[in-house]
Amino acid sequence: MRVFGRRPAFSGGIRLPAHQRREAEATIRQLPFAPRLLLPLRQHAGAASTAVVRAGDEVFRGQLLARADNDSAVPLHAPATGHVLRITEQPDALAGTVQVIELAALAGDTQEYTGGESHDPDRCSADELLAAIHEAGIVGLGGEAGSTHRRLVHARERAVRVLVINGIEGEPGFSRVPAMLARHGADVLAGLRCLRKVLGVERAVLAVETPDGAAARNLLEAAPGGTLPALRVLPPRYPQGAAGLLVRTLAGGAVDGHPAFAADEAVVFSLATVAEVGRMLSGGLAMTDQVITLAGEGLREPGNYRVPLGTPVGFALEQAGMRPEPDRVLAGGPMRGQALAALDRPIVKGATGFVAVAAGETADVPASMPCIRCGECVAACPLELHPAELGFLARRDEWQAMVEDFHLDRCFECGCCAYVCPSHIPLVQMFRTAKAQWRRAQARPAVEAAT
Ligand code: SF4
Ligand code: SF4
Repeated sequence: MRVFGRRPAFSGGIRLPAHQRREAEATIRQLPFAPRLLLPLRQHAGAASTAVVRAGDEVFRGQLLARADNDSAVPLHAPATGHVLRITEQPDALAGTVQVIELAALAGDTQEYTGGESHDPDRCSADELLAAIHEAGIVGLGGEAGSTHRRLVHARERAVRVLVINGIEGEPGFSRVPAMLARHGADVLAGLRCLRKVLGVERAVLAVETPDGAAARNLLEAAPGGTLPALRVLPPRYPQGAAGLLVRTLAGGAVDGHPAFAADEAVVFSLATVAEVGRMLSGGLAMTDQVITLAGEGLREPGNYRVPLGTPVGFALEQAGMRPEPDRVLAGGPMRGQALAALDRPIVKGATGFVAVAAGETADVPASMPCIRCGECVAACPLELHPAELGFLARRDEWQAMVEDFHLDRCFECGCCAYVCPSHIPLVQMFRTAKAQWRRAQARPAVEAAT
């Protein structure tokens, strides 16, 4: 069932050795409720929602806690039955501060979900399904974490013709997407029917990498009927799961009798998002939990876990058998993750996973050396940027040249350049710092004008 596209459509990236999926990678365990859940009113890439509860209120699992007053906001629902302890203002990387609802989960309760009405994609209209997705507070689970409702609205406005289901895990070592493919096939198919109807598209493509080809074939062969997506199995290559790169790979010439489509005729949704859309709509659920990977040598039981939103990262890692005093914990995977300053931070919508790096695991990382102009980073960059030159400019604090002449803003911090650099130059950290400095410099004139 090989269709669409012929060869990699972008240069660079890292070729990963193919491996068979282990049983543990196709398993999803349920985490218990932490005693206290922390729920920022902005958990995703968009505007904050507005609290509709007050300190002291009793709430049940799935109850609306905050409404969306804005196109880019999403509603927030109670992950657990319990009561609202307090609502505080806490620092927020994007907006300065954000309100956080602190919820005490009811000890000993069954935490049964008594939520709303289910939505059958075959009976509901496209607009009803779209509204249900909005009301459920669903955000993208492929790492982008934007409002799924908003993304669908924009895709409808673009009149897309092809729905791409991205079944490629975004980070090496993570396996929540393959686990959902293996364990939540019915939800994937229900979500697919729903999104197809909302978008009004017939054509769909399911893209996976070689280790997950058999699971994808099994899913499609066991499907009860209807128009199935075409399957494209790609050799493992990081970061081809990035939406922009994937759609370029899949688009192109006609293959096996399927007509070609252009990249701008397609919209990409992570398989994790599609599965959660199917699960929530058919179960009448709101987004109150999600599947993440907990990985790293610092854990005795790494794997995939369904985790209630608002769970403190440290609590989740303890449930996965965190060894004493890990060297550090990365939010995100080994390639793109960033070290967490504190483990009491909550797990929020759109989080993909955490890596507990064991004490001593990184003791032998060589020190950074001067650039030898080998060009390895340039060859590895999937966006054909010039990481070496960006690195030179970063050392001289030339943020403007980095952005305007070398397109720093296009860098999505995949980490390929730093991974291949023989001089172990921390290029991605340098680019993150440069972007932050550049944003601050851009914001300064507006602040000065307002004061
Ligand atoms: S981190 Fe940025 S510059 Fe480096 S390879 Fe990835 S996209 Fe290119
Ligand atoms: S890979 Fe490292 S050493 Fe080689 S050109 Fe790039 S920054 Fe310089």
